[in-house]
Amino acid sequence: MGKNATDHDRAALGEVSRRAFLSTSAAGIAVAAAGAPHANAQSASQRKWDRSADVVVIGAGVAGLPAAITARDHGVSVIVVDENYDIGGRGILSGGRVHLGGGHALQQKAGIKDSPDQIFADWTRHDTLDARYNDRDLVRVFADENVPTFNFLIENGVKFNERPIGPERASTVPRTFVTVEWPIASQLIAPGRGRNGSGLVRQLEVAARQKGAEILLQHEMKSIIREQGRSGKVLGITASHDGAIINIEARKGVIIATGGHTGNVNFRRTFDPRLTEEYQQACMPYVHQGADGELAAMEIGASLWATANQTAEAGAAITKTRHIGCRWGYATLVYQPESPMFHLAKATGLTVQDWQDVIFVNQAGRRFWNEADGSYKFFAAAMASSGEPGKLNGGGPIWAIFDADAAAREKWNPKPPNVDPDGFFFSADTIGELAGKIRNPYQKQQMSGAVLQETVSRYNSFVAAGVDQDFKKPTPTYKIETPPFYAAWSTPILHDTLTGLRTTPNAEVVDIHGEVIPGLYCAGESQGGFAQHGLARCLVFGRIAGRHAAKRSA
Ligand SMILES: Cc1cc2nc3c(=O)[nH]c(=O)nc-3n(C[C@H](O)[C@H](O)[C@H](O)COP(=O)(O)OP(=O)(O)OC[C@H]3O[C@@H](n4cnc5c(N)ncnc54)[C@H](O)[C@@H]3O)c2cc1C
Repeated sequence: MGKNATDHDRAALGEVSRRAFLSTSAAGIAVAAAGAPHANAQSASQRKWDRSADVVVIGAGVAGLPAAITARDHGVSVIVVDENYDIGGRGILSGGRVHLGGGHALQQKAGIKDSPDQIFADWTRHDTLDARYNDRDLVRVFADENVPTFNFLIENGVKFNERPIGPERASTVPRTFVTVEWPIASQLIAPGRGRNGSGLVRQLEVAARQKGAEILLQHEMKSIIREQGRSGKVLGITASHDGAIINIEARKGVIIATGGHTGNVNFRRTFDPRLTEEYQQACMPYVHQGADGELAAMEIGASLWATANQTAEAGAAITKTRHIGCRWGYATLVYQPESPMFHLAKATGLTVQDWQDVIFVNQAGRRFWNEADGSYKFFAAAMASSGEPGKLNGGGPIWAIFDADAAAREKWNPKPPNVDPDGFFFSADTIGELAGKIRNPYQKQQMSGAVLQETVSRYNSFVAAGVDQDFKKPTPTYKIETPPFYAAWSTPILHDTLTGLRTTPNAEVVDIHGEVIPGLYCAGESQGGFAQHGLARCLVFGRIAGRHAAKRSA
């Protein structure tokens, strides 16, 4: 396990520990000289390395593993650090739907006509938010590197199902092919079960190890070490392991592949101030997205890029929770009771089949939108009315309210381990009593039983009339009238990081003055400039970063 604190705690703890670390100069790391342009600059005389490699990759996930393999393919030594107890990041829990095209062999076999120019045209379209704000220089190199990246995956043993899916999002032709699940189940969500994404990252792990990359698990990058001065080069990183801090030299380059920022409340609010602490993120509790790479790079001068992408309602930045009554009810991911993560996940959630079976209320007990809608209008409404005096940003907790009849229709058993009664699920014999029972770290005021009763009565009158006069839910169908009554956590879940560090098309990190930080690279969801969901851009720029770093003179 990487870090298991709550998102809120983590944001706070991350800040504190980093600051404390920098100010104590423990383990021989230099404190910034007065007036130095970046926080953890180090002079040559202060270097003392515990480990050394040509290229150091931070994060053994979807971007980090191809970076490591590619660097090894170019003959340089590689150390990969990952804070987790296993490799894979979110990739190991992903659906393995790899969105690479350009006319590769599987597309040809399926009779799909595609080209790098078509990818470029699709992902720079103005008429879709997935593409409008993308950095054209990055998309160009992405387009040109799709077929080589697909071939790289095949050469390194990744296997695909041959059935194409799509066209998806900005793409105009089918490009998605799904990786074959790894034969040894990861067991992360259930015994004997993996996810298709395991076939991608496990095979890349095998290839990386066979080719000689060293992977250090439970090593958490704490900072990136850079020479002083505007043109100072990156020298390595510090990492914590077993309570100690070690210094790892990177003779040619450091590659940030830490997977994005949605789990860091303070950081994500840079882009959308409404994303306050009540919003949880997909893939927790296995892997968080704490902005560690972004923060460490920014501390030595790095810049963000194409930040509009994070709020442009592209990709799947925010998702409607479909597994209600548990904390991390992401749309397609359920941790089963036998999962090794279950003591952290705590409940499977109740899977909603029909949104007619619930109403959503805010923490004041008021409805805010048509429950059947899953568009950005839903999220905007969910974030607009917290129902808490003084809380002007963020919608606060969202609760699904339903009755015993709804539970029967959905075939739910609303008891642990299906629900988490420790703050995320409540039941009572009356609506008023139910409101009074709701206690949760993010519920800052007690819900009024009278308000919730009024909401339910009004909704029941809409069911009788067949028309939702408030929010136009199509034909409200079922009254909420049969005890026991239930309240289940249903606050939207954050998914994609769609902005991050500014890089050149070679994945070199660029500073706030527009100049390359020598020896620093970034790929994956921590990289800014390209709002494409998921695996493909991580794989492509991971390879590019590994190649460029390996070719750099030390
Ligand atoms: C449930 C789910 C399903 C998905 N399905 C798909 C899909 O089918 N298709 C698709 O295209 N995309 C999918 N995605 C998205 C895809 O998984 C991600 O886009 C991708 O994994 C991001 O790759 P990355 O390398 O940036 O981050 P990750 O793969 O998450 O890797 C980041 C790594 O960095 C490590 N790390 C973080 N901080 C530190 C630190 N300080 N020190 C050391 N290590 C650190 C983490 O432990 C992690 O191993 C899915 C995502 C989820 C959550």
